[in-house]
Amino acid sequence: MMRRGLLLVVSGPSGVGKGTICKALMKLREDIVLSVSMTTRAPRVGETEGVNYFFTDHKTFESMIQNGELLEFAKVYDNYYGTPKAFVMEQLEKGMDVLLEIDIQGALKVKEQYPEGVFIFILPPTMEELRNRIVGRGTETPEAIDKRFTAAYNEIDLMENYNYFIFNDRVDLATTRLISIIEAERLRIRPKFV
Ligand code: 5GP
Repeated sequence: MMRRGLLLVVSGPSGVGKGTICKALMKLREDIVLSVSMTTRAPRVGETEGVNYFFTDHKTFESMIQNGELLEFAKVYDNYYGTPKAFVMEQLEKGMDVLLEIDIQGALKVKEQYPEGVFIFILPPTMEELRNRIVGRGTETPEAIDKRFTAAYNEIDLMENYNYFIFNDRVDLATTRLISIIEAERLRIRPKFV
């Protein structure tokens, strides 16, 4: 029986380790595809075009918005981030499950258009640990760290819009929890014509 793929949306505060969990999942599972986002932010050391992001300029990004080429987009810390629509839709039609790792503003926009998606929120074990992780990454200025930490508090308040939460106390455990959620969702009995 051919089924449409699941749209899996993973969010969580900056520094919570959602990228690491998603990467671990992609290594373990070839039956899930990752949506590569567009961004106007500069690549960090070690990031690769087309793997971590499609890096672009403001003008190109804004023309993509105008042309309706993005499923959602958000301005996060002065940069644009967005999900190219065509890739996601093609994969879902083919029956592939697609993983979006996006911020909460974007996740809420996806939910409006695609409420049957599976919305998963990653939580830090403690807020103190979250701050340590943001500082420890060493890529942000002190002002950016404060901005991200305040944003994290506000974001956690919006968790009720999600279907599942996962504590990221250990990457391997968090990844196993994510797989459990996906396996359960694949077996969910859904209404016809959805
Ligand atoms: P970073 O700059 O650390 O890679 O990402 C900053 C934030 O942007 C993270 O919360 C990340 O999840 C979010 N983000 C990455 N790609 C997208 C996207 O396509 N759409 C939205 N709305 N947020 C994204």
